[in-house]
Amino acid sequence: MGRALRVLIGMGPTREPIDPVRFISNYSTGYMGARLAAEALARGHQVTVVNGPSRERLSRGIRAIPVEQAREMERTLRQEARKADAIIMAAAVSDFRPVRCAASKLPRRNRLRLSLEATPDILARLPRRQGQVIAGFALETAAVLSRARRKLRRKRLDLLVAQWAAQDRPPFGRRRVRAWLLARDGTTKALGDVSKPAVARVLLDKVEALWYGQRGSTKNHHATAARRRQRIHPH
Ligand code: C5P
Repeated sequence: MGRALRVLIGMGPTREPIDPVRFISNYSTGYMGARLAAEALARGHQVTVVNGPSRERLSRGIRAIPVEQAREMERTLRQEARKADAIIMAAAVSDFRPVRCAASKLPRRNRLRLSLEATPDILARLPRRQGQVIAGFALETAAVLSRARRKLRRKRLDLLVAQWAAQDRPPFGRRRVRAWLLARDGTTKALGDVSKPAVARVLLDKVEALWYGQRGSTKNHHATAARRRQRIHPH
């Protein structure tokens, strides 16, 4: 019989401080992560999200741990990862951070040089437990599938949602995205132009299939998942 999964989700952007009142960040809104959390909860799973600053509302059944910097997101995810059956990393971690955060507000001046360093790749460095299902996201402007395939391998993922980012149509917030779902077994499924709630459904279907499948209980799982869905959407 398929038991509910403990699903851990990283979502939203991170903020990397320049001084006490300024930071480096990106346009991520946290919408994808919030849709994933809602979908996992609706399927009866136990959901924890580690959320960078986001205005997305998370329902009360979701355990949310707010963080701000990549450093905190990494620390928190590493702690939570041990207890998770599935980890979905949908956060847009800032790739760079100021080497130093100024102790007081930097005064206005004509030019300011900031020295930046790379943040750690949180997902690639997460400690893994045998049998865990690990999924990530990748945003590419060119050579989407070959780059995504390389990322899936380098970060040791089971699943990767690759999204194409057209220059004039950044895929943030409630927009539809052009997406593909890549799996470790080498398969690629084109999802077409999809909404983020639809991406969440497809990804969770696959996470559940991998988790219950490797335990040889796919049939029971499908029945259980269908029953769970029925409880929430009784039609
Ligand atoms: O930025 P990149 O394309 O490498 O991101 C792919 C995946 O790695 C995403 O799931 C993202 O959340 C994760 N990532 C991370 N830590 C970073 C950069 C990306 O965990 N510093």
